Amino acid sequence: MNMILRRADGAEKPLAPEAVDALAEKMRGRLVRPEDADYSEACRIWNGMIARRPALIAECTGAADVMAAVRFAASEGLLTSVRGGGHNIAGSALCDGGLMIDLSRMRAVRVDPEARTARVQGGALLGDIDHETQAHGLAVPTGINSTTGIGGLALGGGYGWLSRALGHTVDNIVAADIVTADGMLRRVSADENADLFWAIRGGGGNFGVVTEFEFHLHEVGPILMTGPVVHPLEEATEVLRAYRDIAEELPDDTTCWFILRKAPPLPFLAPEDHGRPVLMLVMAHAGSLQDGERALASLRSIGSPIGDGVSPHPYTGWQSAFDPLLPSGARNYWKSHDFTTLSDALIDVLVEAAGNLPSDETEIATAQLGGAAGRLPADAMAYPHRATRYVMNIHGRWQDRDRDELCIGWVRTLFENAAPMSEGSVYINFVPEPGEKRSKGAFGANEKRLRDIKTRVDPLNMFRANVEIAPRG
Ligand SMILES: Cc1cc2nc3c(=O)[nH]c(=O)nc-3n(C[C@H](O)[C@H](O)[C@H](O)COP(=O)(O)OP(=O)(O)OC[C@H]3O[C@@H](n4cnc5c(N)ncnc54)[C@H](O)[C@@H]3O)c2cc1C
Repeated sequence: MNMILRRADGAEKPLAPEAVDALAEKMRGRLVRPEDADYSEACRIWNGMIARRPALIAECTGAADVMAAVRFAASEGLLTSVRGGGHNIAGSALCDGGLMIDLSRMRAVRVDPEARTARVQGGALLGDIDHETQAHGLAVPTGINSTTGIGGLALGGGYGWLSRALGHTVDNIVAADIVTADGMLRRVSADENADLFWAIRGGGGNFGVVTEFEFHLHEVGPILMTGPVVHPLEEATEVLRAYRDIAEELPDDTTCWFILRKAPPLPFLAPEDHGRPVLMLVMAHAGSLQDGERALASLRSIGSPIGDGVSPHPYTGWQSAFDPLLPSGARNYWKSHDFTTLSDALIDVLVEAAGNLPSDETEIATAQLGGAAGRLPADAMAYPHRATRYVMNIHGRWQDRDRDELCIGWVRTLFENAAPMSEGSVYINFVPEPGEKRSKGAFGANEKRLRDIKTRVDPLNMFRANVEIAPRG
């Protein structure tokens, strides 16, 4: 049974002002309403294509505010969404006419260096975590942009430069505090509410609002051997075939992604190469600099690159190296495929598409997984994609609204052309719009157990502004 969406604009049953005032009274943070001067700013998220207007925005400062907001939404029958870092491509942080629970004021990170754990509030950004953990020479594997939110990333899976060595972000969750649809704060771990702990690790935001994560930390850096090697697009086919053979044999502590795009103005490229279509092999080694130098040598010796930026980089700097290419506010549409191998046919499809990019900022980015990220059984937790070796993100990105059709069409065409070589599964965090159908879906064989747990903890489907796990009945 779905909850009734009530709009504050009066199109449906309006909210009683007294009830809204009572919620504002209960909260330590602010309750933002459409008439407030900063309402539009509070609705802004990373993807500039998304424009939704919640009836209310609860800017929570802690678990008590979240509990009050969830209880209010439940009693008023309001559609609810949760904003962590606001990076979700489909804009699932925002809901039209409902209550947005905004965690962006909850970014605290507390490290216990002896226990090698970090307590991280649900609205923290990846850069917040790296900053605090690296002060102790520690890290949890996350994603590759420092401005992404840990909330959505960790609950969906989370991978980046350290995942082949140290597993997905979700594999490093020790425990979490979560406010469920009944407004109660629960601790979930292997020993407490174990079923719910299983479900949140890959089930996205479908089960409640995580106010705090506890992560296991690892020794990392502070300096790692990392960087891109840039090849002309004309040589991409041969380079990718050579890359594929080397990638299969790389040790867990070594990772190499590939990106097809127009060359950014990197300082080690000649100015005349800026803006030229290129293939970038972007690599990172999680261990010592000497080992990194050795481990990356085979990848760096492929073909005749036009630039090699691999060198020692501070881990925190590397984690934000891609931020300048991906600031918020642009128009973005992406679609994603999972692969177990990179066939010649797939390489041909990708290289051809890269010769016809619809905008200067569009990229085809393929992450390398495997190693520790692939070693757990597919049912160890809700996150199922252990066989995936490569995740391709066809990331259309542009500035002008009048290019929407062209850019979205280009992404969809490449997606269709690559589909025969893909696994049919999809990473929940890369689903661009609700209702996207895939043969194996985002949860694979874990979907049945997820629905059982959802039916128990959120029978009215309060938290459905996600890749939805619908309760039964
Ligand atoms: C520029 C960019 C780079 C990216 N890089 C990577 C990458 O390297 N690796 C990777 O794995 N992914 C990456 N992603 C994808 C990313 O994992 C998703 O966009 C993810 O949803 C972001 O989380 P968020 O908290 O910022 O998003 P939001 O839009 O705030 O939230 C997304 C969803 O997560 C849920 N949610 C968020 N916080 C909480 C919480 N505390 N409790 C309950 N539910 C919550 C909400 O229900 C919401 O529906 C990237 C995305 C972008 C835009």
